[in-house]
Amino acid sequence: MEGRNFTPGQLLDLDREHVWHPYGPMPAVERPLLVESASGVRLRLAQPVHGADELIDGMSSWWAAVHGYANPVIDAAIRDQLGRMSHVMFGGLTHEPAIRLADTLVGMTPGPLRHVFLADSGSVSIEVAAKMCLQYWRSRGRPEKRHLLTWRGGYHGDTWLPMSVCDPDGGMHHLWRGSLAEQIFADTPPAEFDTAYVEHLEEVLAVNAGRVAAVIVEPVVQNAGGMRFHSPRYLSALRELTAAHDVLLVFDEIATGFGRTGELFAADHAGVCPDVMCVGKALTGGYLTMAATLCTAGVADGISSGEVPVLAHGPTFMGNPLAAAAANASLGLLLEQDWRAEVGRIESRLTEGLAPALGLPGVRATRVLGAIGVIQLDHNADMATATRAAVRSGVWLRPFRDLIYTMPPYISTDDDIARITAAMLAAAAEA
Ligand SMILES: *Cc1c(COP(=O)(O)O)cnc(C)c1O
Repeated sequence: MEGRNFTPGQLLDLDREHVWHPYGPMPAVERPLLVESASGVRLRLAQPVHGADELIDGMSSWWAAVHGYANPVIDAAIRDQLGRMSHVMFGGLTHEPAIRLADTLVGMTPGPLRHVFLADSGSVSIEVAAKMCLQYWRSRGRPEKRHLLTWRGGYHGDTWLPMSVCDPDGGMHHLWRGSLAEQIFADTPPAEFDTAYVEHLEEVLAVNAGRVAAVIVEPVVQNAGGMRFHSPRYLSALRELTAAHDVLLVFDEIATGFGRTGELFAADHAGVCPDVMCVGKALTGGYLTMAATLCTAGVADGISSGEVPVLAHGPTFMGNPLAAAAANASLGLLLEQDWRAEVGRIESRLTEGLAPALGLPGVRATRVLGAIGVIQLDHNADMATATRAAVRSGVWLRPFRDLIYTMPPYISTDDDIARITAAMLAAAAEA
């Protein structure tokens, strides 16, 4: 209630009583940390935990806060926009922040992507991508092409359609059999390029092409599905195969976009352009929720020449000016700095810092790509123990399954990264 002063303890009791957290049971079993404020790469806690009242954020708030917190440029852009308008509907109205954002996105993504649909979260941008692809084939007189093909081990979001293309095991498809859309799955891509795997993809595609609208994948890095990397040459193979079999290609760059893997977009590792691309997460620098679905002129023309020539989608908060202003400021900051050098520096520091992990018992592998560092255990981590070990080292990490990983903000100093990797080693040793 407005005006009442709560102690941190009271807030946490109310949290436990009423608030559902991601992937959590109700009532909760874990006690979340109460964050009072954040600036730079540091989260300030309302009450000290294991002696720490400040944690270095190794997660960038789920990979979004690439410029850290309370960035003066993004703060000022949002304040300035707030002085004009926080929101207006996007049907029949438009505004400069959204127009600028679309223009910037078209300029920085691979050439043929020309049109931008602004969505309110990554999951919704995937819904829109699927709707574009299915409607494209319906307009072209091929309504039976209404399934999606993906490889196992992926993650595309938590709403219903994205769930159907998440890894069937990790996404608990057995719970939803009969109610989730049935999609087509190829095997998980191997890390190294293997022509046998390309032949496998071709076989699955050839058998199913008549009912497949699009192939959808996370390029180069499978993120929440297991933090696995694969050869960019698979993207070139997918581009050739989808073109040969009359199937569209969708890249989900929600996690990999905006420099995270060492290229501006993961697609750039292979110089490949998909027909549809989704971006989100770091789009607003982690300030506000916004995502975007981009497509080529060919996809837009296909839809426009159909019996229903419109894309029937229009979220209430589409194109939100505050989020668009944050995105414009964040992309401006990214593009005007030497982001490639910063991400390269973080890649080197992560590589050095994680090298000793291979000597630890229980560690199966380590891998680093751009500003992504992963320790994979040979067992599932005890999340509470691993988190506690990281917090004792002054770092916020959120391990899952057998993975202790970081996706730090690009503004992390060498010293910050050294502390993050030390915390990952501590978590790996105890978990
Ligand atoms: C996070 C994520 C999504 C979902 O985005 P939300 O904004 O959480 O809905 C989809 N795809 C990938 C690859 C992601 O990492």
